[in-house]
Amino acid sequence: MGGTPGQGRQAGGTPRAALADLLAGNRRFVSGQPIHGHDVTAAAAASGDQQPYAVVLGCIDSRVPLEAIFDQTFGAICVIRTGGHVLDRAVCGSIEYVVGQLGVPLVMVLGHERCGAVGAAVDALRTGERPGGSLAYLVDEIAPAVTEIGFDDPAVHPLAIRRHVRRTVRTLRDDDLLAVPVAAGRVAVTGGLYDLATGEVALLDPG
Ligand SMILES: [Zn+2]
Repeated sequence: MGGTPGQGRQAGGTPRAALADLLAGNRRFVSGQPIHGHDVTAAAAASGDQQPYAVVLGCIDSRVPLEAIFDQTFGAICVIRTGGHVLDRAVCGSIEYVVGQLGVPLVMVLGHERCGAVGAAVDALRTGERPGGSLAYLVDEIAPAVTEIGFDDPAVHPLAIRRHVRRTVRTLRDDDLLAVPVAAGRVAVTGGLYDLATGEVALLDPG
């Protein structure tokens, strides 16, 4: 389809079209056929008003560069990254802005295998040693997902990664300013998981 934006890129696009575009970009990336280079001509082409069609909240992990894994060019998606995609008011406010002011119909929360932030929460619960500083905030925010699985479960790390994505999705769906457009179907909040080895993004709850 060359550089032509898909349906999700149209103003007033639906959550479904936006998700299809995002996943199509991941398939291009996985197949080794990305169409978007990150050169200065792409920056210049997108230098007018922005009209992104999705916002992706992911982890800071250096192995998960969001624009690259979704093969997205300048101006296409808004990206927020925190350790373990943990929410705070700045993150929620940023998402409220792109949904409310820019009319973005899709919020994706993207976790990934072997997430170190989730691992830190598992370790903290197993040892009873809470880290110091602001790292404690990250661990505290991820801890409920670990507790729900059970920190002595041998598979707690991968299972808690998935649970934490779903918890983050649920929190965003219930957000003060997102709940109404989500209930009306104008906005979707969806959870995905990134495979570090294959580059594939899988939806946690497709449908
Ligand atoms: Zn991570």
